[in-house]
Amino acid sequence: MAEYDAEVSDDPLYVLRHSTAHLLAAAVTELFPGARYAGGPPVENGFYYDFELSRPLSQDDLEPIQKRMAQIVARGDRFRQELLPHPEAVRRFEERDQPYKLYWINRKASDDELVSTYWTGDFLDLCRGPHVASAADIPAFKLMRVAGAYWLGDERNPQLSRVYGTAWFSEEELEDYLRTLAEAEKRDHKRLGRELRIFALDERTGVGNVLWLPNGATIRRELERWIVDEELARGYQHVVTPVFGKLDLYKQSGHWERYHDTMYPPMEAENGEELELRPMNCPHHILVYESELRSYRDLPLRIAEIGNNYRWEKSGELMGMIRVRSFALNDAHIFCTPEQLHSEIVGAIELARYFMDTLGVTDYRYRLSVRDPDHAKYVGTDEQWANAERALADALEALGETFELGVGEAAFYGPKIDFQVRDAHRREFTNNTVQVDSQLPERFGLEYVAADGSRQRPVMVHRGAFGAMERMIAYLIEHYAGAFPTWLAPQQVAVLPITDAHVPYASQVAERLRRARVRVEVDERAERVGKKIAEARNRRVPYMAIVGGREAEAGTVQVRDRAGEQSTEPLEEFAARLTAEIAERRR
Ligand SMILES: [Zn+2]
Ligand SMILES: [Zn+2]
Repeated sequence: MAEYDAEVSDDPLYVLRHSTAHLLAAAVTELFPGARYAGGPPVENGFYYDFELSRPLSQDDLEPIQKRMAQIVARGDRFRQELLPHPEAVRRFEERDQPYKLYWINRKASDDELVSTYWTGDFLDLCRGPHVASAADIPAFKLMRVAGAYWLGDERNPQLSRVYGTAWFSEEELEDYLRTLAEAEKRDHKRLGRELRIFALDERTGVGNVLWLPNGATIRRELERWIVDEELARGYQHVVTPVFGKLDLYKQSGHWERYHDTMYPPMEAENGEELELRPMNCPHHILVYESELRSYRDLPLRIAEIGNNYRWEKSGELMGMIRVRSFALNDAHIFCTPEQLHSEIVGAIELARYFMDTLGVTDYRYRLSVRDPDHAKYVGTDEQWANAERALADALEALGETFELGVGEAAFYGPKIDFQVRDAHRREFTNNTVQVDSQLPERFGLEYVAADGSRQRPVMVHRGAFGAMERMIAYLIEHYAGAFPTWLAPQQVAVLPITDAHVPYASQVAERLRRARVRVEVDERAERVGKKIAEARNRRVPYMAIVGGREAEAGTVQVRDRAGEQSTEPLEEFAARLTAEIAERRR
């Protein structure tokens, strides 16, 4: 099926989903005579397949297609490989009027090579396999949605109908997955971000740029203060550097050569100079390093910044706050001696782990991304690579962490540890990385004066410990379903007077809490208190302090938390409890 040149895998779940994609194509060709099938690979949690039909498919088409697929399963059509001489393969797909398949045959196979095709019953596709033996071996699947997609992802090509589906080994697994999706839908950060007034998107700022509303700005500020304080305590030095530089700077660093497709177009300055919005902070931190002569006594030098970065992501790939064109990265570059490398990597992993643990992010794994020794895209010597890969693996082992190997996943200039986090939609993303780099110090000719007076080259560690503010806060919105822990909640307490008469005491309560730096509002509206409680709960405010005559007289508050727990306590006690909860960043 599928992208004829796609990676193949014999992972059973991959094979199942890949086979289900054939099943889908078989059903579509039965239902729509003349359908052209282009291809489509398994993707995370499912698969897709692209078709060209006399009309685009819509959501309403899914049910009949799904039914037809079930019939083919009941029929038990077999998957059968047939190896064809090239001219015969061309003839078969010409006969079937399948230009997309002919494209792959002509591109991938040479004339004297056998072309691998697969039958599913009477449906013929171009594929290397492997598949399940028969359609009857596909126990549970569901078509999810239809989207438009250009052939080969190029907008100049015809638009095809892309059908997404998911497949599992049992009905229970399928049900479980659909339940997770429904739950994730409720937590969707775009929806909650709008309802809770955390962020907005307005195309007048250019697509993919986030407007942080007061609530979102509060969450972000709290996180940034915490991050910066923690990093300072761990020996980092925070800097602020420009969001752009001359294009030549990114040419020297190699970013332009490697990443210009995802960089903003340069801005022409008055004297013919070209300025470029930075895609990464590394070159700027190198300039900070170079701002004075460094000695071994300065090392390790840990330069940190929550720096804005700009990437020209394709507009079709932008998504809420998860995929954006400008983002603030918690970034640091550590310049150290080779002997210091081990402890610096350990320290970077520990910091990332501390941030994740505090936030309650537990669904993550480590991947050690190393180079593919057969590939030419990597720069540096074998010895540099071996040392760097060993340093990263040793650090993970010293911390007792297990990891898997991502061969070929390294950056072109060095290996890295990736923190792979899974979100509420069960999608995995790389949140943090710790990367060892000998190339940039080389390219910039960085030096330090060693103890013996000689000039030596430092090693550089690129390190993220929190990720990008946009992506991480999007993740946290979904992770907490909008109910941020008290220390991060935009509003921490809603003071609710029972009637107008209790507004003065309510104001006193708010004033007392505000003095303790609690973010508190009084709901003074002439509404029933029941309604005020319901609204505060909708806004996910952690605490409500309900006050009436009895409370005013006794100097107490009726406290109600988000879980519905209630207690009456002296105002001072409540203030103290709250302050401690916030200071300790309890969840
Ligand atoms: Zn296949
Ligand atoms: Zn960097």
